[in-house]
Amino acid sequence: MSAKKANGEAVPQKIEEKLYQNRYLVDAGRPHVRIREYAEPSAELRRLVNVCPAGCYAINEQGKVEVMPDGCMECGTCRVLTAESGDIEWNYPRGGYGVSFKFG
Ligand code: SF4
Repeated sequence: MSAKKANGEAVPQKIEEKLYQNRYLVDAGRPHVRIREYAEPSAELRRLVNVCPAGCYAINEQGKVEVMPDGCMECGTCRVLTAESGDIEWNYPRGGYGVSFKFG
């Protein structure tokens, strides 16, 4: 049930609340998204920190881009953005693992 404003209109759900509805089965030790080795992060790789809707990419204290794909929604955005640069290896998780979307 969604919250309502004083005028009776439904309050739109925040994206974080919607994402929280999803469930993930992590394939421990077998990440389906990996960053290939690099000396300096490319512009495409740095961009993933801001564009991944699940926040799987981050810049660590050494200025390196890291990926933690446990909450990945398998949208493919990072795969498309790095198609030319080849910065990442991307595969679907093995059967039974990965995201389960909750609709409604
Ligand atoms: S596939 Fe989508 S959700 Fe998963 S890591 Fe890439 S951008 Fe993020």
